[in-house]
Amino acid sequence: TKPLLEIKHLDVDYGLGDAAVRAVRDVNLTIHRGEVVGLAGESGSGKSTLAYGVTRLLPPPGVVAGGSVTYHPADGEPYDVLSLNHAELRKFRWAETSIVFQGAMNSLNPVHKIDIQMMDAIKAHEPGLSKAARVARAKEMLRLVGIAEDRLEAYPHQLSGGMRQRVMIGMALALQPQLVIMDEPTTALDVVMQRQILGQLVELRERLGFSVLFITHDLSLLVEFSDRIAIMYGGRIVEEAPSADIYRDPLHPYSAGLLRSFPALRGERRELTGIPGSPPDLRGMPTGCSFHPRCPKRFEPCDTILPILGKPDDHVGRARTVACHLHPVTAG
Ligand code: ATP
Ligand code: SF4
Ligand code: MG
Repeated sequence: TKPLLEIKHLDVDYGLGDAAVRAVRDVNLTIHRGEVVGLAGESGSGKSTLAYGVTRLLPPPGVVAGGSVTYHPADGEPYDVLSLNHAELRKFRWAETSIVFQGAMNSLNPVHKIDIQMMDAIKAHEPGLSKAARVARAKEMLRLVGIAEDRLEAYPHQLSGGMRQRVMIGMALALQPQLVIMDEPTTALDVVMQRQILGQLVELRERLGFSVLFITHDLSLLVEFSDRIAIMYGGRIVEEAPSADIYRDPLHPYSAGLLRSFPALRGERRELTGIPGSPPDLRGMPTGCSFHPRCPKRFEPCDTILPILGKPDDHVGRARTVACHLHPVTAG
């Protein structure tokens, strides 16, 4: 399949000069057309920073310090999102990429009914559309996310948290983007609701053909619903592989630890052990492999030499990469 978004060597800092801390380090990640990619990692690992850096929505003092983000439109030449001007950027955000933020359900305006908010979003995106067409689009999108049409007449407080979140997803889809980024849309929702929403999105993806970048702590959800998973630690991607490979045979000790931190959805019950210790401080990153202070498998080179992300020699032929000295990689 064709690439939709190619992130190369992306660095993102908070602050400038001596005060800068690097929250995303040398990240490479490609999202293909129609693909669901999961991004997992503990709190503070840089998941949101990566998503906002890629879409140029970083709140100050966040700055993209290096790298490129190449977008491949359905028709036309690929371009670098990082060099778009403001007008181009606005168009890119509407037409190509929609983000549903962490806690987005709370960003609905409490004083307006759902229909007004959806109509406004659609109108801003497609000013030429007739009112009847806008209403039809809004109703269709609500139906797609499993909300009855008559709920258009509701105020946000009349909907449950899960329904509000689905309204936000419906609004994002109403703009018919090529890529939907969901940044932990689920933290506030119960587990059943999380699964429903991600399941619905994956089903819609098959019908509407968009790609999804889904960001969460919960690796077990990603294992079930995404095609590929990237795992972040201390601002870097430390492993990336098809979901089944991550689930059956995680290569990075951190991936294995994360998997043990969530109940498995099917198959054997795993003991929930979690990962001892806490994530690294950006101002004092450990030398070598940044996971080494917590790693049960660390050995001689781990505290001095940074493992690079690459295709592991012990898994040739698999479409997977890892950054760990246990799995030497072929550079390039
Ligand atoms: P979570 O799962 O909690 O959402 P995350 O993986 O999305 O975590 P980020 O929000 O991207 O993590 O944060 C990555 C790092 O950047 C953290 O160490 C965080 O403290 C730091 N950071 C985030 N926002 C800012 C900011 N505005 N100023 C300074 N540092 C920040
Ligand atoms: Fe553990 Fe060493 Fe691999 Fe890092 S490089 S994850 S410390 S074994
Ligand atoms: Mg986040």
